[in-house]
Parts: sequence; C-alpha cells; structure tokens
Amino acid sequence: MSQTLSPDTEAANALRLIGPDPRNWVPDRPGIDHNVAIIGGGQTGCALSFALRRAGVGKVTILDAAEDEAHAGIWRTIARMNLLRTPKILPGPELGILALGFQSWYEARHGRDAYAAIDRIKRTDWADYLAWYRAFLNIPVRYRTRVTRIEPADGCFRLHLDVDGTASMETARKVVLATGFTGNGGAWIPPVLSESLPRTAYAHTQDNIDFAALRGKTVAVVGAAAAAFDAAGVALENGADAVHLFARRPSIASVPITRARGFPGAYDNYRYLPDAIRWRQGLRFRRYGSTPTIDAIQRAVAFPNFHLHLAAPWETARFDNGQIEARAAGTKYRFDFAIAGTGYFVDPSARPELTDFANEVLLWRDQYTPAADERDEYLGLHPYLGFGHEYLEKTPGRAPYLKDIHVHNPAAFLSFGLPIGDVPSMKRDIPGIAGRISRDLFLADLEQHAVRMTGDVPPDFTEALYASAIR
Ligand SMILES: Cc1cc2nc3c(=O)[nH]c(=O)nc-3n(C[C@H](O)[C@H](O)[C@H](O)COP(=O)(O)OP(=O)(O)OC[C@H]3O[C@@H](n4cnc5c(N)ncnc54)[C@H](O)[C@@H]3O)c2cc1C
Repeated sequence: MSQTLSPDTEAANALRLIGPDPRNWVPDRPGIDHNVAIIGGGQTGCALSFALRRAGVGKVTILDAAEDEAHAGIWRTIARMNLLRTPKILPGPELGILALGFQSWYEARHGRDAYAAIDRIKRTDWADYLAWYRAFLNIPVRYRTRVTRIEPADGCFRLHLDVDGTASMETARKVVLATGFTGNGGAWIPPVLSESLPRTAYAHTQDNIDFAALRGKTVAVVGAAAAAFDAAGVALENGADAVHLFARRPSIASVPITRARGFPGAYDNYRYLPDAIRWRQGLRFRRYGSTPTIDAIQRAVAFPNFHLHLAAPWETARFDNGQIEARAAGTKYRFDFAIAGTGYFVDPSARPELTDFANEVLLWRDQYTPAADERDEYLGLHPYLGFGHEYLEKTPGRAPYLKDIHVHNPAAFLSFGLPIGDVPSMKRDIPGIAGRISRDLFLADLEQHAVRMTGDVPPDFTEALYASAIR
C-alpha cells in the first residue's frame, strides 16, 4: 500500500535532525520587553527571527505596519513582475537548512522535473513559499503595528508604536531595521513631477496603483529600470490606450555590472574592502545603471502601443485641462497619468522613526572624500555601517546607542555591496547580523554569564559507578 507523504515531511525531518531550539540564554532585564525588536516582517524580518531563535536569543518581536501578511513586504503589493529578477538557485531564508529552501518546498509540491523546468521563480510562488516558511516555522509577526519613533533611552530603546490607531510604547535592547527600500529614505520622485503636477496626476511605482483605472488612458512612465518596465507592462495589460516610457540614457542599461564581483571571495569579504574600492564599486554600479530583466522589456515591447523614448528626460511638465503636458527631448506630449519608476533615495533624516538620531548617524560623505570626478551626492548619503550592519556615530561619544541599531535594508548597499534585503544578501548578512547581536548581548551581560559559566555543575555520576572495579 503506497503511503502519501505530506509535502512538509522533509522539512519536518530537517528540523528534527537539527534538534530542539536552544533555550533563551539572554538574562531578563527589568523594564525591558524585548531583547530584539525587528522592524519589518517581510522575508528579512522572518529569516532573522529564525536565525536568532537558533542562536538561543529569546524575546524577539517582529513589528510590521502592514495590515496582514498579504500586504507585508513587496511580493503581493508593489512587485509587478511575473518572475523574480534573481536566479532560482540562490540561497534564501533557509539559512543553510536545505529542506527549508525554495527548491525543496517547490519540489515537494510540484516534483523535481517541474523545478528543473522553471527558469526563474514565479513571484507568486515565492510569496507562497515565504508564507509557508513563516507558518511552518511558527514565526509570529505583529501586523498593524507601525513603529513611529525609536527613542534612545537608558540602555534600551523606547519604541513608540501605532497599533491599529492606538499609541503605545515598548522597550527593546536591540533594534533591526528590516524595513525595505524606503526604510532609510523614501521613494524618489523627480522635481519635474513633484513640483509641477498635482499628486493625483502621478504615482510612484512604490504606490498601490489602480491599473484598472488606466484603461483607455494615455500613460507616461518616467524611468527605465525594472520597476518602470513592469509598470508599463501592467498598464498595457490593463488596457491602457498607449504607454510612453522615457529613459534618460541613450540606451537601456544592459550590463549587470556587479556580476563581476559575484564570486565567493568578493561576496564573503566585501565589507573588508577599503573605502575607496567600495566607493568606486558603488559608483560603477550607478554609472552602468540598474538593468531591467529581459522578460520585463519583452512584456512591454510586445504591445504595439508601447513607445520607448531614449535620451528623453522630462524637461518640463504642467497640468492643463485635466491632463499632463510634458516636454522631453524638445517634444511636447500629453498624458492622462504618469508613473515615476525613478527609484529610491537614501536619507535617514527623512524617516520619522529615525529622527531622534538621524543627524548623529555617520554617513559615507562624513567618512570618505572621493576624488573630484568620483563625487556622488546620492552615494554620500548612505550610512557608513559597521561590521554588524550597525549605525556608527558621526561624532564618537555623542550617540553610543547607535551600535544597537542594525540596518538590514538597501541603505546598506554601499557598505556591503548589495541591495541588502534582496535574496542574494540573505545567505551572508542574516547570519552576520544574528551573530553580532548574539555577541553584543552576551558581552553586555558578561558579569552574569561569568557567574553562570563558573557556577557549580552537578557530577554526571558518582564513584559508585566504578567502585566495584577499584583494586
Ligand atoms: C518592485 C521590486 C521588485 C523586486 N524584485 C526583487 C527580486 O526579484 N529579487 C530580489 O532578491 N529582490 C527583489 N527586490 C528587492 C526586495 O525589496 C527584497 O528582495 C525583499 O522585499 C526584501 O524583503 P525585506 O523583508 O527586507 O523588505 P520588504 O519586503 O520591503 O518588507 C519591509 C517591511 O517593513 C515594514 N515596515 C517598514 N517600516 C515600518 C515601520 N516603521 N514600522 C513597522 N513596519 C514597517 C513594511 O510594512 C514591510 O512589510 C525587489 C524590490 C522591488 C521594490
């Protein structure tokens, strides 16, 4: 008689083999609610919570402003591509336990041949997998909980929360910002849009855009990276009359330049590179540009009513008679709606929850002075992070608590060489941060641990065990 195995059999066995979770070894401190508060319950927050659990760090809470799992993170909200941009073979939140990885999850449900047949992972499959990961590992995320202020206090942080519209406060010793692309700044909208048009006339790709309302409309997309092409494709699929995409460059960025350092030595040791090399790497990426995926371009180009304008940044825009009138490369156009696919800016002082200390955070521009032809204001605003992804102080001694705030979002790009939070960063940086948190908490309570480590240990056996053999 054949026995039907649950698709979770292998994953359950893997957990059995690694043994029970260690007990929390971090001593309680009076007045402290959480040893670690992770802000953001997307893939980063959940994976980090699992890593801390396996390190025996208890009292970890995950807070997320989203109303529920489906609205947390990007995969079912603002990500509009059909396939993940990253290759299917990359390690993700499984943290080395292969049976908890995407491949195992997918093969358990669809078979090995089905996995072999896919080129890249369907976005919705990745979202389903992450939901499974969270549920299977029983990782609790507190949704509808926005952190509005991180207030440094005596030996901890006071986290000011908005829980479903009600204000409250909790304390934590360590804070991790797993807050995604906008977590250290926000969506960047070119002034030609933000200063000339009413907010109802345009959206950023970061917004929840009502694409159905664009049926029969003429739509402009400003920007030419992946999210811009995705938005163009979705607008066209929703029946937009025409979509015009405007690129600044004379051709679409097609060189994934960071691939040159996609080998383990560079990946594992990036943080140890001198500042000058990391700066030049960041600059090189900026100059080559962020490449859209081939399928994102094909999706838009397949429509005859898709128009690509190269070397055509918007010069002016005005709102006239319910429409946008824009001028690019000397030509005037009229649109019903515009979408800015123009990326994100990094500026800790722009985030309300960071305002207590944003001015104390060491930035790259404070730390490193590039040659005149290598200056870049955008890069200069990135926080200059320590080895454990922690903020450092601009002025030593003024804000020592910053070492207890760890940044696991794309603001860590310049320090660590990757858009941190993306799948490629997980294998290296989740264990890195968990290890650093464990170390810091351990050393902070060294006296108590020293007592524990020099404490009495009862013998495993008495002399009675071998007394009969004593001659
Ligand atoms: C359009 C798009 C496509 C992408 N495609 C890929 C891809 O194919 N492959 C890849 O590896 N990466 C991709 N990325 C990068 C992507 O952001 C990450 O891979 C992934 O979402 C990172 O997960 P995360 O948990 O770090 O952050 P997010 O998924 O962004 O989650 C952050 C969470 O923090 C919460 N939050 C923020 N601020 C607060 C606050 N103050 N209080 C409480 N909660 C808060 C938010 O509600 C959110 O749920 C893409 C990004 C975008 C924008």
